[in-house]
Amino acid sequence: MKIPWNRVKIVATAGPASNNYKTLKAMICSGLDIVRINFSHGNIGEYKKTISLVRKIENELNRPIGILADMPGPKLRVRGLPGGNPIIAKNNAVLKIVTGKIAAENEFNISHPAILKALVPGAQIYISDGKIRIRVLKTGRQSVLCKVIAGGEIKQGAGLNFPDIDLPIPSVTADDYRNIKFCAAHGVDFIGLSFVKDARDVKRVKTFIGGFKHKPFIISKIERRFAIDNLIGIIDATDGVMVARGDLGVELPIERISNLQKDIIRRCNAAGKPVITATQMLESMIDNPSPTRAEVSDVANAIFDGTDAIMLSGETAVGKYPVDSVVMMEKIAVQAEKKYNFDVHIGKTVKRDITDIISQSVADIALDYSVKAIVIPTLSGKTARVVSRHRPSPMIIALAAGQDVQRQLTLSWGVYPVYSAKQHPSVVMNTVSRFIRTSDLFRKGDRVIIAAGTIDKGGELSNIIKIAQV
Ligand code: PGA
Ligand code: MN
Repeated sequence: MKIPWNRVKIVATAGPASNNYKTLKAMICSGLDIVRINFSHGNIGEYKKTISLVRKIENELNRPIGILADMPGPKLRVRGLPGGNPIIAKNNAVLKIVTGKIAAENEFNISHPAILKALVPGAQIYISDGKIRIRVLKTGRQSVLCKVIAGGEIKQGAGLNFPDIDLPIPSVTADDYRNIKFCAAHGVDFIGLSFVKDARDVKRVKTFIGGFKHKPFIISKIERRFAIDNLIGIIDATDGVMVARGDLGVELPIERISNLQKDIIRRCNAAGKPVITATQMLESMIDNPSPTRAEVSDVANAIFDGTDAIMLSGETAVGKYPVDSVVMMEKIAVQAEKKYNFDVHIGKTVKRDITDIISQSVADIALDYSVKAIVIPTLSGKTARVVSRHRPSPMIIALAAGQDVQRQLTLSWGVYPVYSAKQHPSVVMNTVSRFIRTSDLFRKGDRVIIAAGTIDKGGELSNIIKIAQV
């Protein structure tokens, strides 16, 4: 167990600054729960290296570590500039996006020319994270004329966002599917899907993953206006969510970020789906050994909002202080949890199925009665997740049936996943008793709540809540 134990989970991106045994191990020992591999950068050789390093360290420390492989989706980029040189776009100048050869100083290509036919006059195009903004004047089959609203230097490979347009290209590309297959074959636990538009995007990937023996969790990244419009359907279809504040702050007015973060987190909590808050959390630590006050507050506030996990991107991928960034997040989390509003987090659950009733009751008991831990034997991890969404103060120990489930629970707030072999439901309670008696997490006299959705000897579904004393 990591000391000091804290409930919120930490995700950090591997990259040139951290993709080595020593740094990864130091980050994991400092409280890192999940390693993110960004498939926008790097190559298969590097991904394989990260995966095997994480599994080696996991083995050495005997602690489950999740691996999140983040698919780039259709990254739209500037291509084919005049003579390969940047365009200096002045305000009010006219630019031309063309499908064919560049013939003039103000022309460029884009990576997915199929998009051009969906553009309409007045549509905005953002370049380089919205630093440069242009607006469509006139559309045509071979070219689109645009006026520069906010100028700047347009470089080869600069990112493009089309916030007003429902793009006629799939959110999950052929490359993504190839990489998802690779991830399933290499035991990756979570797949991040960029620029998800609606539930159909998620369901298509779910069906694809359904064909594999090892089925990674889908983390849908909310980073477009269309995803906000279709949020309820996406949360329903997905296994987890990322508040991808980087692109979200470009595609929607940046001043809405905090409200959107709160709304997305609240809905994920209610549904019992883990949610990651991402991007620029400790951005200044890319270059500096300590963060700004605003960054410290941002991390803490995401925790108060109810996020399951907080994420580091450039800080650990390319920054100068990858380990210090994890250490800092851990310290902020420990402090934030001293002020945390336990147990009253999502209020009473609405959907009153039996799992809801059990999880609500467990949270109520944990609030009224002092217990050391909540122990949950779980086949799929679901019972642990629905108890976690109530944010009870005691540690939630999930006895996960199998390593995949154990690793997938590394993302859920307050859950401490322990490996447990898959077994017949009739003997599950014996396993729980044995675990409590033999685990060094407990001392004599400690009280625990045991919560299980199980099947008894007669084949009846018997949902159990038991309060036991060690
Ligand atoms: P990215 O996703 O870093 O892959 O773009 C996260 C975000 O947009 O915030
Ligand atoms: Mn993004």
